[in-house]
Amino acid sequence: MVRTSRRLADGREILYFAAGTQAPQRTAVDPRELPAVSTRSQLRWDPLLGEWVALASHRQSRTFLPPADRCPLCPTRPDGPPTEIPEAGFEVAVFENRFPALATAVEFDVPPSAPGAPLTQLRPGFGRCEVVVFTSEHDRSFATLGPERARLVVDVWADRTAELSAVEGVEQVHVFENSGEEIGVTLSHPHGQIYAYPFVTPRVEKVLASVERHRRATGGDLFADVVAAERSGPRVVAANEHWTAFVPAAARWPYELQLFPHRRVPDLPALTGEERDALAGISLDVLGRFARRFDTPMPYISSWNQAPVGRGREDWWLHLQLFSLRRAPGKLKYLAGSESGMGAFISDTTPEDVAEQLRSVR
Ligand SMILES: [Zn+2]
Repeated sequence: MVRTSRRLADGREILYFAAGTQAPQRTAVDPRELPAVSTRSQLRWDPLLGEWVALASHRQSRTFLPPADRCPLCPTRPDGPPTEIPEAGFEVAVFENRFPALATAVEFDVPPSAPGAPLTQLRPGFGRCEVVVFTSEHDRSFATLGPERARLVVDVWADRTAELSAVEGVEQVHVFENSGEEIGVTLSHPHGQIYAYPFVTPRVEKVLASVERHRRATGGDLFADVVAAERSGPRVVAANEHWTAFVPAAARWPYELQLFPHRRVPDLPALTGEERDALAGISLDVLGRFARRFDTPMPYISSWNQAPVGRGREDWWLHLQLFSLRRAPGKLKYLAGSESGMGAFISDTTPEDVAEQLRSVR
């Protein structure tokens, strides 16, 4: 894989990635006149839950479902309007989000606490939000990228995770994809995102606490115990030499999979070349099952759970959560009173049934 770094009109970085060892010429200049990105995001501490909340009020003006001929993630064609990607063609492109929730160039001058709430500490919304464009072709999806491009995307995720993890102040790197208008995706061009947070996210904190609790109670290794049980259990949907995808025993979404490598690694950069090839293969397999389960592709969220940068790395086990809010054609699961109010999930499906359904998708 080779990469080339360029700048957009407002100073944001854009990276072009290509398979092979010879970087294609990347000389296109962004012709737009864009104001410098100003970010006044801040983090506020919720003293009751003990969690950070990011406030990014400047994001209200972001692009919402533009028509396909004005897609900002398509390449800039000679006869078309300039997009976010100045080159006329590319394999995978990554750039800093124009409306970032977290940015390295954030305004650092924030008061110590929220007005009238001394327990609600404030911090600048430091971090980085990147957009990963999987292909220059607008009407594709991850499931139809093919093994070589999917492998390149895996390498790009690993590259970004390693680089962002090295940024002073970054504590966790989250690689994810939202797919489908039904879950609020504002751009249909195949793309994912990467958030580099200046804190360890609530989900990862909670899992690390469970690992510790399990060790104290049983002397065992929670991740290893779960992976070993599920690999030989009734909810496996797909597997290859290096990876197993299964419906978790206590799944909370109508369709949900977890994808674990067989070897314990903390994050994507730690995967070997063979494991990355196998990941590309099984990703296409399971996303294909999600796409073909009903007449139209299911909307989904694909979320990489990587180890934090600074602690808990030896306890962590890299895995992907893949889930859909679609219960049936035309029906979505909404997070209502119990889920939104109390964080207590009520599922209408049985994980064992869902595994059987996904196994039988052809
Ligand atoms: Zn497009």
